[in-house]
Amino acid sequence: MVIKTAEFVKSSDRWQDCPEPTMPEYAFIGRSNVGKSSLINALMNHKYLAKTSGTPGKTQLINHFVINESWFLTDLPGYGYARVSKSMRRDFEKLITNYILNRKNLVNLFILIDSRHTPQAIDIEFIEWCGENSIPFSIVFTKADKLKPTVIAKNVEHYKSELLKTWEDLPEVYVTSAEKKTGGEGILDFITKTNEF
Ligand code: GDP
Repeated sequence: MVIKTAEFVKSSDRWQDCPEPTMPEYAFIGRSNVGKSSLINALMNHKYLAKTSGTPGKTQLINHFVINESWFLTDLPGYGYARVSKSMRRDFEKLITNYILNRKNLVNLFILIDSRHTPQAIDIEFIEWCGENSIPFSIVFTKADKLKPTVIAKNVEHYKSELLKTWEDLPEVYVTSAEKKTGGEGILDFITKTNEF
């Protein structure tokens, strides 16, 4: 897919305030600092579309963009930021889960995972929650340029085997680097294949 236009629509702090669900929608989510803004900017070939944050956990809003005037890209708040109060974390969770459960035009959720780490409980729990709620998702490993390809491959396999403990089939998996701009075509091809316009 060639990105011709990428336009910011609005930020919402409630799923009810999101734009009218008139187009297919693809959302990106992950722990704070996973590299979500960088990946969105790399995918869209845009330096500053999504804000890259020096302060993790700051973006607590659902940000909608319209791509090629035909689909929504949604930048969801990062989860799992430890240095906020419990009640703030609960508000985040509610915002995210309500959005995911209620957004009728959501075609797929891209769950971002830092490829440098071993499986983290919070990510596994979130993935399990998606499964329990029949939410279609893919897994996107980020920052693949940070370690040797052999180490990244081992981490990805480790992750897959962790998921296979509870899943019969694995979802689509992408290995990306926003820094090197690699792995993004797979995601854009998936979006082209799955949306109906
Ligand atoms: P977000 O909080 O998930 O939106 O994460 P950001 O996109 O703001 O990235 C967090 C930090 O990781 C920043 O310092 C980025 O420069 C860095 N980062 C993000 N993606 C990559 C990547 O693909 N490679 C490398 N080496 N660093 C990255």
